[in-house]
Amino acid sequence: MRPFRYERAADAEEAVALITAEPEAKFLGGGTNLVDLMRLGVNAPGTLIDVTRLAGHDRIEETAGGGLRIGAAVTNSDLAADPRVRERYPVLAQAVLNGASGQLRNLATVGGNLLQRTRCAYFQDITKPCNKRSPGSGCPAREGDHHNLAIIGHSRHCVATHPSDMAVALAALDATVHVRGPSGERAIPIPGFHRLPGDEPEKDTVLDPNELITMVELAPRAHATRQRYRKVRERRSFAFALVSIAAVVEFEGQTAADVCVALGGVAHVPWRATIAEDLLRGGPIDESTLTRAAEAELVKAEPLRDNGYKVELARRLIVRTLLDLVEADT
Ligand SMILES: Cc1cc2nc3c(=O)[nH]c(=O)nc-3n(C[C@H](O)[C@H](O)[C@H](O)COP(=O)(O)OP(=O)(O)OC[C@H]3O[C@@H](n4cnc5c(N)ncnc54)[C@H](O)[C@@H]3O)c2cc1C
Ligand code: SF4
Repeated sequence: MRPFRYERAADAEEAVALITAEPEAKFLGGGTNLVDLMRLGVNAPGTLIDVTRLAGHDRIEETAGGGLRIGAAVTNSDLAADPRVRERYPVLAQAVLNGASGQLRNLATVGGNLLQRTRCAYFQDITKPCNKRSPGSGCPAREGDHHNLAIIGHSRHCVATHPSDMAVALAALDATVHVRGPSGERAIPIPGFHRLPGDEPEKDTVLDPNELITMVELAPRAHATRQRYRKVRERRSFAFALVSIAAVVEFEGQTAADVCVALGGVAHVPWRATIAEDLLRGGPIDESTLTRAAEAELVKAEPLRDNGYKVELARRLIVRTLLDLVEADT
């Protein structure tokens, strides 16, 4: 690991000023991803700016309309344990608890979780080419090991997936990311915060380099919504999703007044299943409508040589998880 300088910012303004003054600096959350990447030589920032103790960033607060504002430095453990999150946004608590391990969740922050990098093995191995790490060098995963990589929305330049469980739930909940940069503050809806690889796979999100995530906002949810996060992985803990789903459905009897579904492990972004949602919204939810909706969503899937199994897994997860919500008592 190369030597680096450590700075601790007191508030968001100071953090942005520090990073703007030092082009080679990076923000440091819990360090559970960034420090690993520094050890591997993937990142070598000259300065780390600790943003875990910025004033007000470790709080979860009510919004006027009944939603929540979650500070970017709230740890994943505190987020999943918050009674308001557990009661009103259980899909988020379930997603967070499905990620990493207890020790990691105690350190990992909301801001860092959204910006964690792909687990593609070539990205983490600096002896190999990788367009995301070293633009223009190539994408060995396309012909190599891609069994856990993307089946939809990928490009010839990159077939990586986004690894966050939390981001999948936030996408289904239509959360908004608030950021602050040198030219002020802005709000970015989470479907739209992460980006598809296209011909610039080095960019995971639409964030500008010196922008700081300050908080994530959750809109109020109707009381009748049922929510579920389900993750299929190679072992029960300490494993990233092969495919996951976050489903949020507002029922009127057996009819779906509103349906929000996001898939994890299938794309470079948490994948909002808008085609399936449109087919299901306003109608009855049963096995045949769900099968049709899931198949329509996945028509555009382009699996690679070794990850076609994910298409069937995603189809089954959509059908099974939404049927479970129909059958749930609450
Ligand atoms: C063994 C292992 C298993 C794991 N399993 C899972 C899993 O199953 N599911 C899952 O979702 N995750 C998993 N993770 C990943 C873990 O959730 C992330 O490492 C963690 O959420 C990152 O948060 P952090 O605060 O430690 O981020 P850091 O490592 O501190 O930072 C990550 C990135 O975010 C940037 N950053 C941090 N805070 C901000 C901010 N406020 N504004 C702007 N930029 C910021 C940093 O500069 C860096 O680029 C696993 C990790 C490990 C090591
Ligand atoms: S899939 Fe993306 S991250 Fe993986 S090797 Fe290809 S370019 Fe790099």
